[in-house]
Amino acid sequence: MHAPADYACPFCRVAAGGESQAEVFNDGVVIGVMGLHQPANHAGTVLVLPAQHFENTYELPDELAGRLMVASARIARALKVALGCEGVTLRQNNEPAGGQDVWHWHMHVIPRYAGDQYFQTPMRMMPLAERAALAARIRAAMDAAEPDRVGGAS
Ligand SMILES: [Zn+2]
Repeated sequence: MHAPADYACPFCRVAAGGESQAEVFNDGVVIGVMGLHQPANHAGTVLVLPAQHFENTYELPDELAGRLMVASARIARALKVALGCEGVTLRQNNEPAGGQDVWHWHMHVIPRYAGDQYFQTPMRMMPLAERAALAARIRAAMDAAEPDRVGGAS
């Protein structure tokens, strides 16, 4: 465990409904919410997280791990439809050595574009109103984004 004893968990706050306008998915067990920090030139990263607090991948019950991956895949397809991105990166960090800096499990679902230099691009804090507008576009694509529409063959 790396979270301090008095950790005010930002994703437990999300799970309590604190960012409901920025959610793209919520079935009461798994939540998809627009990330607070977005790349300056190609926003759209969604964070997938469990409603219940687990710090890292090592702690996840199998069934929940599966549900988190299913939600990540659905959101990846929705990003293809909603944003027209050319690729999607799934990124999930564990422990400080693994790049983790929020102590509640989360998967980054990141829209990618050829030559976007994602890993060199500065991040900015995106205001809630902007995140809510993006979330609405992605929510609208969730049902339309079935695998046959966004498969690798396209
Ligand atoms: Zn938490």
